[in-house]
Amino acid sequence: MIKRNFLKILGLSYLTITVLPFNLFAQKNKIINPNLSEEQIKIMFKEGTEKPFSSPLNNEKRKGFFHCANCGAKLFASNSKFDSGTGWPSFSESLPGAFKTKIDYSFGMRRVEYHCSNCGVHHGHVFDDGPKSTGKRFCNNGLCLIFKPEN
Ligand SMILES: [Zn+2]
Repeated sequence: MIKRNFLKILGLSYLTITVLPFNLFAQKNKIINPNLSEEQIKIMFKEGTEKPFSSPLNNEKRKGFFHCANCGAKLFASNSKFDSGTGWPSFSESLPGAFKTKIDYSFGMRRVEYHCSNCGVHHGHVFDDGPKSTGKRFCNNGLCLIFKPEN
């Protein structure tokens, strides 16, 4: 009887230790969209960057919203998009709560990297040299976005 209880306690603590971190990991940074390309996965899950001037979204000027290509969360409204000349879709502000930021020290630079609040995937970096309205420039990989025109 004592032995069985002991095993039960062991079993429970083993479950707590192994299952909890797995669940935390599973909730964040999970592939939700099964149709993501290898390139999209590399950018979103390994913090990669697409080639500048490669995204068709650079020239997207219609009214609508830009959504996360992985989870579909609404991230930017078209009226915050501007032509930064950098070769990546650029926005002066995100929708409230759309992103969480962290400091990225890669390539010997200090940059503020942002991730989708909903699914956790990487989208781009935000800089303080944006247009006067906000002073922010969200430099977003086009491959991480899906544009849905308004109507
Ligand atoms: Zn997302």
